[in-house]
Amino acid sequence: MVVGLGPGGAEGMTAGALEALGQAEVIVGYHVYIELIRDLIGSREVVSSGMTQELERCRQAVRLALSGKRVAVVSSGDPGVYGMAGLVLEVLEQAAPDSRLSVKIIPGVTAATAAAALLGAPLTHDFAVISLSDRLTPWDLIVRRLEMAARGDFVTVLYNPRSHGRQIQLRQAGEIFLKHRPSETPVGVVRNAGRDGEEVWVSNLQKFTGLPVDMLTTVIIGNSQTRILNGRLVTPRGYQT
Ligand code: SAH
Repeated sequence: MVVGLGPGGAEGMTAGALEALGQAEVIVGYHVYIELIRDLIGSREVVSSGMTQELERCRQAVRLALSGKRVAVVSSGDPGVYGMAGLVLEVLEQAAPDSRLSVKIIPGVTAATAAAALLGAPLTHDFAVISLSDRLTPWDLIVRRLEMAARGDFVTVLYNPRSHGRQIQLRQAGEIFLKHRPSETPVGVVRNAGRDGEEVWVSNLQKFTGLPVDMLTTVIIGNSQTRILNGRLVTPRGYQT
């Protein structure tokens, strides 16, 4: 099973994810996420490791599953959104192309919708989701996608927006959107959605890069219709026009 944990602790998990975790004999994941669900794990076997160890974790999970164990690979948010679901399927295909092992993918609440709910209702119209991490994707391709989303007037959600080693990318993303949208376009920023230390800011395209945006943060850039109503972001769906 590849299980989406939602944005934070147990309250943000789906009933399906809770059930899957309950059935697992071994739980595999990034150690930070393992800590978030420590109470649910009890005395079960855990395989945890750090960031950048994703491939090794998946290989281990697949080995354990092929040996007959019921394994849950946990991923934050939704496992199919910049998560482990794809990698598990790829590794299984390489390790045992003809195995009839069943892989169940359990969806979760992704950071985009968790952040949107805290901000109001910014995603009630077409939106694009773009990761600013150029660790696995060339930066010029990310720039092209940002440019297209900006030109297409998509509300745009940015994952992996800024880290210690990656400071320029967010500024450049802001500049791309400023070419196509007014500087007062609403931008919502959410840090630690559903976790301790949750923070929510309503800002604009001119100013948002000055906020303490990091890898625990999701940024939502409004489209030309997005408004701030009583301090909350709303992208009208059009019912009232
Ligand atoms: N599979 C995850 C995304 C993994 S990519 C999901 O569906 O949510 C990691 C990025 O997700 C982070 O850099 C951040 O941009 C975003 N993110 C994940 N959890 C978050 C949270 N609790 N609050 C705000 N942003 C979060």
